[in-house]
Parts: sequence; structure tokens; C-alpha cells
Amino acid sequence: MADLKLENVAKSYGKVDVLKGINLDIKAGELIVFVGPSGCGKSTLLRMIAGLEQITGGTLTIDGQQMNDVPPAQRGIAMVFQSYALYPHMTVRENMAFALKIARKSADEIEAAVQNAARILQLEPYLDRLPKALSGGQRQRVAIGRAIVRDPKVYLFDEPLSNLDAALRVATRIEIAQLKEAMPERTMIYVTHDQVEAMTLASRIVVLANKGIAQVGTPLELYERPENEFVAQFIGSPAMNLLKGEVIATGAQTTVRLAGGGVAVSTVPTTEADLGLQVNVGVRPEDLVPTDAEALFTGEVEITEALGEVTLLYFKPQGDDAAVIGKLPGIHATLRHKSVGLSAAPEKVHLFANGRSLLYR
Ligand code: ADP
Ligand code: MG
Repeated sequence: MADLKLENVAKSYGKVDVLKGINLDIKAGELIVFVGPSGCGKSTLLRMIAGLEQITGGTLTIDGQQMNDVPPAQRGIAMVFQSYALYPHMTVRENMAFALKIARKSADEIEAAVQNAARILQLEPYLDRLPKALSGGQRQRVAIGRAIVRDPKVYLFDEPLSNLDAALRVATRIEIAQLKEAMPERTMIYVTHDQVEAMTLASRIVVLANKGIAQVGTPLELYERPENEFVAQFIGSPAMNLLKGEVIATGAQTTVRLAGGGVAVSTVPTTEADLGLQVNVGVRPEDLVPTDAEALFTGEVEITEALGEVTLLYFKPQGDDAAVIGKLPGIHATLRHKSVGLSAAPEKVHLFANGRSLLYR
């Protein structure tokens, strides 16, 4: 069992700030996913927790004990990297046993730990093989096995699936979910740039951007109630559409006149003081539905992409808005070059001012 607390954690290299003001409470047994664009500091934050990178500001506490200056081996943590870096001349059993041998554990203890890890990861048939005789997914499981034998309180994963092909990535992702279920009391922190991994694995997601945390929440909180435009557009694919507009009626529901001429109604409440407020109306492609009545957006379909289960509709940009994308269930290739009106249910219409959601004022 291990709780982690990050208070005002910062990282700089000389004068260059990489991360600052990171505040985060992680409860024992959570699977926390750090997600964010390349270079936003995900690995740096993970490596600071592991002790592989110095914390240049703030404090890291694990189970109430400050860890800033505790060496990595004494933090009760094991880390699994993207490059699994197995010892090529050692069998699966020897690879998994290695850290325990170095720690001078008894042969019985080592064998028990290796058997336990092999059972959890279904590696028992491969214990006497060399890494070169394993698939990529099996190798990554051995790398995870090397962490399990050490029985850490906290597991850290840094993009462990990035080297696997698409099908293996899905299979190994499900194995990691099962691994977490087999060890419900263990805390796991998982770094990825893949939002599907984040949405499917996380108990809570931490979105990192602009040197800090953009939002922390359950996957569905982030999807349904993004705090800002960054999270709104980072979670979900294709990204949420943002359309410029002005608030023309306020109350329990809010009406916005869009720059493109349409009207949007949102269940986000506003007050009279918001009349005339310049906002961005956010609507996910999957929440847009064709309508013959008053539309939120009307435009000509430039391109259609029929993916089988859904069709993506790409509309021409209007004014200074970005191109709007719609996502309709089924196959609609015939809509190309047609003019289509789209609306959205009021509870699916998000409102942002100055980049922040009006829900969180
Ligand atoms: P991510 O894992 O999110 O892709 P990283 O944590 O690897 O990002 O890197 C975050 C930022 O820190 C990047 O802009 C990177 O250039 C910078 N950085 C990482 N290591 C160093 C270093 N040793 N010296 C200076 N800058 C670094
Ligand atoms: Mg990284």
C-alpha cells in the first residue's frame, strides 16, 4: 500500500523550467495515467518519482515519508521502460531473477518470486527461453516480470507499449489492466501519449501541458467536463470542434449566436452579466447530428471518410474558425459536396471563455 503526494513539485535544467507547481495526491491502489503531448514532461515527472532525476523544487512524499533525497532503490518503486532492455544472453528466468540475485536473496526466495511473476504474466512456458525467441509482447511481459519480482509498492510505467505493433499493443494493454486487477492494492503510474491507453487503463488521468497539470479526473470526467480547451481537444478523437460565438441569452440554459450564423443552446448556466460574452462553443464530432431545423452549424461537406462503423465529415472552415468535423454512425459517403445542417443536444454543448470552461467558474 502506498499513497503518493506531490506538493509544488518543479523541475528545471539550469534556467529552463520543464515542470512547475505540480500538486497531486495519489491514493494507494490507484492506476494514475500521465498523458500529454510529446516533450511536456511526463517522463521527467515519472523519473523524479523514481528518484532517477533530481527534484529541483517542492516535495515528494510516499506513505508520509519525504522522498526527495532517498535513493531510488529505497523508495519501494519499480519502473518499466519503453525499451525493455532484457539481457540477451540470459533466459527469461535469469532476467527476472537478476535484481534479486544482486540483492543477495536466497535461491528459494528468488525461485518463488520468479514463479509468482511468471504465473501472473502467463510466462511459465517460456522461462527457459532466451529473449530472442520471444515476441515483442512477451519480451515486454518479461520486463514487467522484472518489476513484479521485486514486489514494489509502486509500479511506474513509461510508455511500455510504444515499441509494440498495433495488435500487440491492444493485447498487452488488456494484460496490464488484468495485472492491475490481480494487484489491487499496488499503486501504478503509467505514462503514455496514447489517449486510448489513458482512457481505458486509468482510474484517474493527469493531463500535463504547459509545464503544469491541465486537469486531473476520471476518464469520463475529462471527456464530459473538460476544464479548459486544451483538455477538451486533447481527449477524444477527432478533437472537439471549437466555434466562435457570442452569448445572446442567459439563465439555466445559455444561447450563443455563432459567428457562422448558427445558434447553439447549452445546458451550461450563465448569468445576465454574461450577455455579450465572447465564447468558444465546443462540440465533439460524435455529438453533432444532422438536422433540418435550426442548425448550430451549416456547411458544405468537403471530404468524407467512411471508416465502416462511422463516417467522418470534414467541412470547409468558416471565417476564422478551424475546419469542423462531424462523426456520424454508419456509412454516408453520398454526403460529399452536399450542404448539411448539424445540431447538438444542449447537454453536449460546452462553453469556453479565455480558454476556460464556464462550468468551472
Ligand atoms: P515527455 O516524456 O513528456 O515526452 P520529457 O519528460 O522527456 O517529455 O521532457 C520534458 C522536457 O524536458 C523536454 O522539453 C526536454 O527537452 C527537456 N529535457 C529532458 N531532459 C533534459 C536534460 N537533461 N536537459 C535539458 N532539458 C531536458
Ligand atoms: Mg517520455
